[in-house]
Amino acid sequence: MTQTYQGTALVTGASTGIGAVYAERLAERGYDLILVARSRGRLLSLAERIANETGRPVEIIDADLNDPTSRATVEAKLTEDASITLLVNNAGVGTHTPLLDSDVDAMTRMIDLNVTALTRLTYAAVPGFVSRGKGAIINISSIVGIAPERLNGVYGGTKAFVLAFSQSLHHELASKGVKVQAVLPGATATDFWQTGGLPLENLDPAIVMSAGDMVDAALSGFDRNELVTIPALHDGAKWDAFEAARAAMFSELSTSTPALRYSANKTTVHGA
Ligand code: NAP
Repeated sequence: MTQTYQGTALVTGASTGIGAVYAERLAERGYDLILVARSRGRLLSLAERIANETGRPVEIIDADLNDPTSRATVEAKLTEDASITLLVNNAGVGTHTPLLDSDVDAMTRMIDLNVTALTRLTYAAVPGFVSRGKGAIINISSIVGIAPERLNGVYGGTKAFVLAFSQSLHHELASKGVKVQAVLPGATATDFWQTGGLPLENLDPAIVMSAGDMVDAALSGFDRNELVTIPALHDGAKWDAFEAARAAMFSELSTSTPALRYSANKTTVHGA
């Protein structure tokens, strides 16, 4: 164990994929861990391996974050354990199924995990972070948060929520010592694709990143205090321009009069 102690990181969806890589990397960086997911067996073997390799204590909570009762145990942990300095809201599911082919109950469960659980865990963690003047939240969004046409629209909507929520959290909490990062991965090689009904083999390898590379890039963005990190976007100036265009509209988005193009007296019909 060579790294300085960084406090405890609670990582959701840590049994496999992106969350499991975060767990490994954070332990290597000096965090004790609390790993959350449903599969107790996978959590146990990962916890044992990380503890052996890094010497860091690793606790597990097997909880279904779709279930309010077991979700409450994770919320209580975040509220009560003052050693927690980092929350990684990673657990999430997706699908590529178009709206008309999607089961609305499955879509609602997706919203419950990707949005409701993430929101509730954030609410549980933030008061302690603020009172201690220290803490960080990493929220795993997706590139479909800004490109919802690319996959299922409800999934894109949940990830747009994660991005907007993170931007708002940063706005409210940065001055209180709480650091917020939204990570927007592109296609990443995990079970996510199989679970969502589109096995990875169907994707062009040129657009798929390994989970290790994705998390290492995201943590590099975290170290640079980026609010938004898009690991695959090579030309970072494009995101800066996108944000600048958004910010340039802020002062014009709420006015007492409708825009001229919507005026009732306007007689010109487009194309007429
Ligand atoms: P993954 O390999 O399928 O892992 C998902 C994790 O979430 C697993 O640990 C799973 O563990 C856990 N999980 C699922 N449902 C849960 C529930 N109800 N309660 C608690 N834990 C639950 O997927 P991944 O690619 O690592 O996805 C991680 C995050 O990255 C997600 O938010 C996803 O939307 C986002 N993302 C992924 C990609 C990609 O291409 N892979 C791209 C952009 C964003 P259990 O099954 O043991 O519960």
